Amino acid sequence: MTPAHLPFFQKQIHDRQKELEAVKEYPWEKLAEVIGEVGFSCTRCARCCTREFNGHVVLLDEDAARIRAIDPAALVPPPEFDLSDQHGTFYVAGYTLRAEPVGRGECHFLMDGRCRIYPERPMICRIYPYMLHREPDDKGVIDWRQVSGIDQHGEYHSPISPDVAREIACEVKAFESSVLIQEIAFFEYTASYFSAHGLRPVRKRFDDGMRALRAGAVVRVKVFFGGAFESWAVQGEECTPCE
Ligand code: SF4
Repeated sequence: MTPAHLPFFQKQIHDRQKELEAVKEYPWEKLAEVIGEVGFSCTRCARCCTREFNGHVVLLDEDAARIRAIDPAALVPPPEFDLSDQHGTFYVAGYTLRAEPVGRGECHFLMDGRCRIYPERPMICRIYPYMLHREPDDKGVIDWRQVSGIDQHGEYHSPISPDVAREIACEVKAFESSVLIQEIAFFEYTASYFSAHGLRPVRKRFDDGMRALRAGAVVRVKVFFGGAFESWAVQGEECTPCE
């Protein structure tokens, strides 16, 4: 890696390492208490399985591998990328699930309001609506968020036993840690890849590329999976694997 590239990748990796430490240190007891108080109960409205409500589904590598074995057509690059090189190729830390291009953007696996792969569903779908992120609030104050979409779906204040709350809390912490570990591996690999191929991250090419994509152009996307990149051509909602 040339020195000019170092700060960008170092910062991305450092930020995620700090976040990973914070997630690991967050007491599961505190998260379990929140889970018990919230008492979320699913009413099968299926809103959470749409991009309109939740954006895209973040897949860990192990989710992506399992889902590829079930239905390879379900895996696509996510609609948001992490960076672009000077040639306008995008790079992203993992896959997402294909969604309907029209309407609410329903998940590829949603049928008649039910998940077709429920026993094999991704980790994020198992822990939803619980999460463990630090995000800025309306006033820009950064604090932990433990629940997504509160009061916008499902029912609340259902009884949840301490054992179940603890189990969910541990799963949430494991998932959030795994996302960060995957992102760190992505940035480490990308730094080496850029160095080997004479590439550099360019913010302007990222912005230009996103504008071109929205205007209907084909863009190249490299998705980090299994410790390497898989290449895609993306045009609007059309995603095609390529060499
Ligand atoms: S995989 Fe299943 S649970 Fe997850 S978003 Fe798709 S339909 Fe919903």
